Amino acid sequence: MNRVFNFSAGPAMLPPAVMLRAQNELINWRDGGTSVMEISHRGKDFVEMAEKSEQDLRDLMAVPDDYKVLFMQGGGRGQFAAVPLNISSSNETSLHMVTGSWSKGAVSEANKFNNAVVIGETTQREGKAFVPQPEPSDIDQRAAYLHFCPNETVDGIAFDWLPESGDVPLVADMSSTILSQPIDVSRYGIIYAGAQKNIGPSGLAVVIVHESLLGKAQSVTPSFMDYTQTADNNSMYNTPPTFSWYLAGLVFEWLKEEGGVEEIARRNNHKAQLLYNAIDQSDFYRSQVHSACRSKMNVPFQLAEPSLDDKFLSMADEAGLKALKGHRFVGGMRASIYNAMPVEGVQALVDFMSEFERTHG
Ligand code: PMP
Repeated sequence: MNRVFNFSAGPAMLPPAVMLRAQNELINWRDGGTSVMEISHRGKDFVEMAEKSEQDLRDLMAVPDDYKVLFMQGGGRGQFAAVPLNISSSNETSLHMVTGSWSKGAVSEANKFNNAVVIGETTQREGKAFVPQPEPSDIDQRAAYLHFCPNETVDGIAFDWLPESGDVPLVADMSSTILSQPIDVSRYGIIYAGAQKNIGPSGLAVVIVHESLLGKAQSVTPSFMDYTQTADNNSMYNTPPTFSWYLAGLVFEWLKEEGGVEEIARRNNHKAQLLYNAIDQSDFYRSQVHSACRSKMNVPFQLAEPSLDDKFLSMADEAGLKALKGHRFVGGMRASIYNAMPVEGVQALVDFMSEFERTHG
């Protein structure tokens, strides 16, 4: 099989075992003589699959019973609009930590539907990008929610503490970090994630919302974006993206078989350490992110000599190390190493980096 190590930030690689299973059952799902894409979402088989996938996700993340788990459409950006529409009125304030490109995007979208206020931003510490904790005094207790992105996919900036928000519900965009490490769901009002990194195909979004936040949607909220409507209809108010949901279900089963989120976190830590060590040990490679705020999912790095970027990328590509070009906002390189990336892929990258340095340093 002609597979490569695919470091794409998203849509990202999926576990080969999942893809093979999907291939195997594609045209004859559950012995029904059709694919999962060609049947009613209201039929017994699909409903059973949908319920199991929700339960598997609940098990993996230990989601408490007073949270709804929703499978929605519109990816991550869909939630940039759905969150303000669902849990704030147009004259309420939402608080935002802006730590990179995606949390910045969430502010401008929220500001269409409420009064979005930035309460903290990435700064520089020791010449590197660093996220300071917001001052509790900056957190207006009348705000509808506090939005943040614990892992910035473009910038490779992450932090593992939670802002101290008092009674203001926390809303986290976990698009690029969901299921990569254990978290305490009960600390959040809403967790949402576009699927195309650690869950499945793009277009789908998973939303985990505390029940106390339901029933507050602005009257203009499109029904299919309304959390309460979605919850009341088991995420089938409109026809769900059935194939994406099915594939997400396979990824959840795979993750359980691999040992769950604890085990995947152990592997993710190991992978990230391998790569950051390679960057730190050499003057040839650089990271612009402070060691306290480095993402374990998206690892941007630069060459001390940027004129070699194109050569690095084309030689890496030839060596089967794909999609390493940094986001156009950041430049340089970025290796996205989500759950599905095996340690062998990271090792191959590290070996390539060492050899490239030897021959070009
Ligand atoms: N938030 C984060 C953290 C992301 O990484 C992305 C996509 N890369 C989005 C939001 C937007 O997701 P989508 O393209 O599915 O709207």
